[in-house]
Amino acid sequence: MHTPLRTCIGCRQVRPVAQLLRCRVAADHRPVCGRAADRVAGRSAWLCTGSQACLRSAVSRRAFERAWKRSVTTEMIDALGNEFAAAVHGHRGGHMEQLHAADEVGCSAGTKG
Ligand SMILES: [Zn+2]
Repeated sequence: MHTPLRTCIGCRQVRPVAQLLRCRVAADHRPVCGRAADRVAGRSAWLCTGSQACLRSAVSRRAFERAWKRSVTTEMIDALGNEFAAAVHGHRGGHMEQLHAADEVGCSAGTKG
């Protein structure tokens, strides 16, 4: 087996893709991260999963503009921050939270699969 490696655009470390989060820009110019990004065509930017430090340093160095080869607005950066946090939450504690939420909410939290 070989593990694909990518460079985090924040800290510039080379890591296995399993430790990184893919970020892309959807057709409507909305940034998407994680699984949602897999369904979007286009250039990928990679960040260490869950690392706000890498996200911030990528933003401040305009690494997204370079990775995506397009201009990146502050609205896109805001949306990206939300997407990034959401993707990380789904990735990490999803299982436990889901069990917990199921007690209170019943049906709406279901479709994370
Ligand atoms: Zn990083």
